[in-house]
Amino acid sequence: MQVFTGNRNGEISVFKFHPDSSLPCLYGKCEMIFSRLEDLKYHLLHGKDHYLAGTGKCPWRKCGFIIKKNMDRESIKDHIASHVISMKSTI
Ligand SMILES: [Zn+2]
Ligand SMILES: [Zn+2]
Repeated sequence: MQVFTGNRNGEISVFKFHPDSSLPCLYGKCEMIFSRLEDLKYHLLHGKDHYLAGTGKCPWRKCGFIIKKNMDRESIKDHIASHVISMKSTI
């Protein structure tokens, strides 16, 4: 198993898996795992199109949140970011 860490330029470096500090991205079918919270957050909010979730059920696994039509992009972003923040307590 490997851990991916993206830097601000979008480059990905691969590290040996470290079970104590693994932060998996649980968005849809994404299977990336990060070792640092800020990397996961950056990945979610800037790297991929994760924050561009459409309306309907939140793609985050095990999340039952419904994204409503009248939610603006910032609110959706805030919701996606809340998943990362809640992971903090598990480290
Ligand atoms: Zn992802
Ligand atoms: Zn969600």
